[in-house]
Amino acid sequence: MEDHLQKLKTELRVEGGHLTFQNQHLLMISCPWFTALQLELENTLGAMGTASLIKTAARTWGERMLAIYTPQVQGMTLEEKTRYILETYNFKGWGQSELVEFNDAPPRIVVRKTDPYFENTYKGSAEESRCYLYLGVMAIIAGFAISEQFPNLEVTETKCIAKGDPHCEFVLEPKQED
Ligand SMILES: [Zn+2]
Repeated sequence: MEDHLQKLKTELRVEGGHLTFQNQHLLMISCPWFTALQLELENTLGAMGTASLIKTAARTWGERMLAIYTPQVQGMTLEEKTRYILETYNFKGWGQSELVEFNDAPPRIVVRKTDPYFENTYKGSAEESRCYLYLGVMAIIAGFAISEQFPNLEVTETKCIAKGDPHCEFVLEPKQED
C-alpha cells in the first residue's frame, strides 16, 4: 500500500495548470477511475488540498475548451450556448445535467445534475460538495456568460449527492463582494 501511494504521488503532476497522471491528461479518463483517484488523493493530500488541485485543473481545462467551442456556438444566444454545452457533456457520459434556471443580465444559471460519478462513493457522508471536475464544464459556460458589464462570475456547487442532497446543483452568478 505504501509503495502504491508513493508511486501514485510520483506519477501525478500538475504541469502548466493541467493535472496529469503518467503523462496523460486526467480529464480524458473514465469517471470510476477518476473517483478512485480523488479518494486516493484525499487520503494523501487531505480534502482541501485535493479540492484545490482538481478545481484548478478543471478550470484550466474549461478555459481551453472555451476556445474550442467559441467558434462552434457563434450566433447563438447565451441560453442556447449553455444548453449546447450541457447536452454535449451529457452525451459524453458526464452524467445527466439540465438547466433549471436561466437569466442573462445579471447572469444566473442553475444546473441540476443527477447521475453524478460519486453516487456510491461518499454515500452522502461528505461534508462539502465533491464534484470538482464538473466545474470545468461550468467554466466553459462561465466563459460565454462573462461580459464587460459582468466580468467577475463564480460557480458554486450548492447541492451535492456526495453530502446527501437528492441531486447536485451548480450556480453560476456574479461574484459576491465581501
Ligand atoms: Zn456533486
